[in-house]
Amino acid sequence: MDKRPQLTTAAGTPVADNQNSQSAGPRGPLLMQDYQLMEKLAHFNRERIPERAVHAKGAGAHGSFVVTGDISRYTRAKLFAKVGSSCPIFARFSTVAGESGSADTARDPRGFSLKFYTEEGNWDMVGNNTPVFFVRDPLKFSDFIHSQKRDPATGLRDNVMQWDFWSLSPESLHQVTILFSDRGIPATLRNMNGYSSHTYSLWNDASERFWVKWHFKTVQGIKTLTNDEAAAIAGTDLDYHRRDLHDAILSDDYPRWRVQIQIMPEIEAGSYPIHPFDLTKVWPHRDYPLIDVGMLELNRNPENYFAEVEQAAFEPGNMPPGMGASPDKMLQARLLSYPDAHRYRLGINYAALPINEPHSPVNTYHRDGEMRFDSNGIGFVNYEPNSFNGPVENPTVKEPPLQLSGDADRFDHHEGNEDFQQAGALYRLMTSDQKAQLIGNLVAALKSVPRDIQVRQLRHFHKADPHYGSQMAERLGINNNVSNATPAATVRHRSEGG
Ligand code: NDP
Repeated sequence: MDKRPQLTTAAGTPVADNQNSQSAGPRGPLLMQDYQLMEKLAHFNRERIPERAVHAKGAGAHGSFVVTGDISRYTRAKLFAKVGSSCPIFARFSTVAGESGSADTARDPRGFSLKFYTEEGNWDMVGNNTPVFFVRDPLKFSDFIHSQKRDPATGLRDNVMQWDFWSLSPESLHQVTILFSDRGIPATLRNMNGYSSHTYSLWNDASERFWVKWHFKTVQGIKTLTNDEAAAIAGTDLDYHRRDLHDAILSDDYPRWRVQIQIMPEIEAGSYPIHPFDLTKVWPHRDYPLIDVGMLELNRNPENYFAEVEQAAFEPGNMPPGMGASPDKMLQARLLSYPDAHRYRLGINYAALPINEPHSPVNTYHRDGEMRFDSNGIGFVNYEPNSFNGPVENPTVKEPPLQLSGDADRFDHHEGNEDFQQAGALYRLMTSDQKAQLIGNLVAALKSVPRDIQVRQLRHFHKADPHYGSQMAERLGINNNVSNATPAATVRHRSEGG
């Protein structure tokens, strides 16, 4: 008798033959009664779940977070209570626009998502490798993503759609400048920084609130790829970044990131000249210097890609007491849209999947639902209030109140939110080699775009920095005076190019 485990159906019944279907005679048609064949075909048809609409291609790893700096004066979260304490984490990095099988070395922002399994429940940091984003109002988000994905007619990615949207959305210029800079294609996932991008909050035992931005600085150093290097790699290995992360961890070369924060006392938000909740802006370091918090390390590869990476569900609303959201409109929308996406992709019980399950007790009155695969609360009371020893609320973890005021309206998000200054500041801090790479990358992407869209976009480069604008005008062969002037608005039919 073979000592290996016995093959069974999904119901556990032993399988006699896994090589030959049941047929009417050796050359005849198959029989409906071949349950095992039906089960195999049906299960295979259902192996794929909906891929993420954005961030579909990713790589993940387990690791740890160790506290190195005391920030307990800002937050009561137990995670940060003691220097030296540690917490298990899971990280997933991803490209944004490509599908699940797309090339890792595309020019694209990278998702930088972290799940901290803290003793007070999960903290999810759903960041990017850029400190800002293309839009500041979530009403524009699905339009923005449509413009970066595929043309509905041709099924092709299309530079015209991208630049049409960006040139009509000047608030995108800061992120566009980062995307087309040398940092737009990281050499590996280990060689990029992560940022919360959003402003979040921290609050302490004295109910004081602080606005916070999170930074995750690569200890490996920033390394990048040129367009040519990235294209060559994509031609031979679509999974280059996923493979690199896996291989590094396999050979005990564990990547690390220094965790730092910028802290703004709640009261300062009203008077700080830069809108502190505008996702297209950073807080300059000279105003809010970086404070050390801890060290992240990735040191264990997933054992099953689907169970751990594909089913990982991060949501910015997962925050233990002492941490909170902010009025950032993009963050407010993501608080809804991330769990909403998980309910669609993974079902209502996604939080109970092993990779998402907190390492601390979970006591809710939720019951039932699609794919409920645990004991479903057995016979415990399923309503509250009750007199049957069910779980009760804990008023001591109440977040301090946030004072809000104002008319309910649709406020022009450009009003009082300058769009160009920080893109210019970034351009000016680049070395001449970085500037040359930026200009070259932009020209490569813009050269096939209709002239009126080029001219509209050139106005933004000029406003950020005259040198940035004139370099782009020269390389695109557009008269500097034309590109500097305000062009008349154009409306074209889709078939006229674009
Ligand atoms: P600082 O000189 O204090 O900081 C500049 C920052 O720019 C550093 O964090 C540096 O990262 C980063 N940087 C350098 N080259 C690039 C690039 N090609 N793409 C993205 N980031 C880059 O200046 P300020 O704080 O006054 O910020 C000036 C500009 O720097 C901002 O407008 C913004 O565009 C950019 N920046 C600012 C950040 C912030 O939080 N203040 C964060 C990231 C970028 P590193 O330390 O790794 O070299």
